[in-house]
Formats: sequence, C-alpha cells, structure tokens
Amino acid sequence: DVWRDITAERELERAALTDPLTTLANRRGGEEALKREVARCRRVNQTLSFLMCDIDNFKRVNDSQGHAAGDRVIRGVARIIARQLRGTDLAIRWGGEEFLCILPGADIHEARHIAERIRAAVGAATFDAGAVTISIGCAQLDASMDATGTLAMADARLYEAKASGRNAVR
Ligand code: GH3
Ligand code: MG
Ligand code: MG
Repeated sequence: DVWRDITAERELERAALTDPLTTLANRRGGEEALKREVARCRRVNQTLSFLMCDIDNFKRVNDSQGHAAGDRVIRGVARIIARQLRGTDLAIRWGGEEFLCILPGADIHEARHIAERIRAAVGAATFDAGAVTISIGCAQLDASMDATGTLAMADARLYEAKASGRNAVR
C-alpha cells in the first residue's frame, strides 16, 4: 500500500530528526530547522535570535546521582525550556546537556528576557537530583554575520556566563 509506505517513511524521517529522551529536535533536525529559519527570516526581513543554553556542573549530577538521574534532569530542563517559548520558537537538543533555542522575531533584548525567564524557571524547579542551574548565551543574527558566526557569538557569551560564576545570562 503506497500510502502506508509514505506514512512509514515520514515516521522514519521524523524519528531521525527527533531526540528520544526529550522529544525535542535533535542536532540533525536542529541544523535543518536552523537553515530554514535563517533563510525565512532573511527573506521577510525579520529579526532572529539564538539562545545557547548549557546545564551547569552537570558532570557532578551524573557522578553523584548516576546517569539515569542525569537523564531525568535533561528531560526536565528540556520541558522547562519548551514551556517558556512561543509557538513559533524552536528548542533543539544541540548536545548532551546543551540546548539551542531559535527565536524568530526576537531581537537581542527580547532574547535576553526569555533567557532570563528560562534561567529563573530552571533555578526554581525541583529535581530528584537536587537543585540545577543553567547558563545561557544570547546572540542576534544581523547582516554582518552568517548563522555560524552568530552561533559562535552565542557560544562565546555562554562561556562568559560560565566564567562569571554560572547560573547567568549573557
Ligand atoms: P559546565 O558548568 O562548565 O557546563 O560543567 P559541566 O559539568 O556541565 O560540563 P561538561 O561539558 O564538562 O560535562 C557535561 C557532561 O554531560 C558530560 C557528559 O558525561 C554528560 N552527558 C552528556 N550527555 C548526556 C546524557 O545524555 N545523559 C547524561 N546523564 N549525561 C550526559
Ligand atoms: Mg554543562
Ligand atoms: Mg556542555
């Protein structure tokens, strides 16, 4: 049945782009969404910002509570991030305990505001593993830089947030 084949194929494709632990887009799905959103925002002349989010001292959670508890923290943080975003925003599990948010229509000020909301919500949440904090670097796409450069800027700001003592937005 050709329709069933198409449905099965779509399902496979969707699974290949999704992170099973969090149900967010995985790195591969994220890269596709990133390209699509950057092109779309440039075309319609809309602002676009990125948040690079990384759980603080996550190695300690794994070491002291075990990998399964670590996985539960990743899932909980993913849910908190997703809840703070708008319908047109995208959250991606970019790496192990790292999340990229794509915020179409947001300038750097709005991006920092949303990042601050995420930071506060993660800090206020209770996890089996104890308190968890997150650091976030924000960057706005502009005409002078491509998506890769803008992501590198978000990464550099994340590093600044870590260097400032963590649990911070830059
Ligand atoms: P920092 O505040 O500087 O980010 O410190 P950190 O300990 O969070 O950073 P680091 O990158 O050194 O450690 C991240 C750890 O995340 C290392 C790796 O074992 C763990 N990790 C990566 N993916 C997963 C996963 O899917 N599940 C679990 N439980 N742990 C993971
Ligand atoms: Mg970390
Ligand atoms: Mg990390």
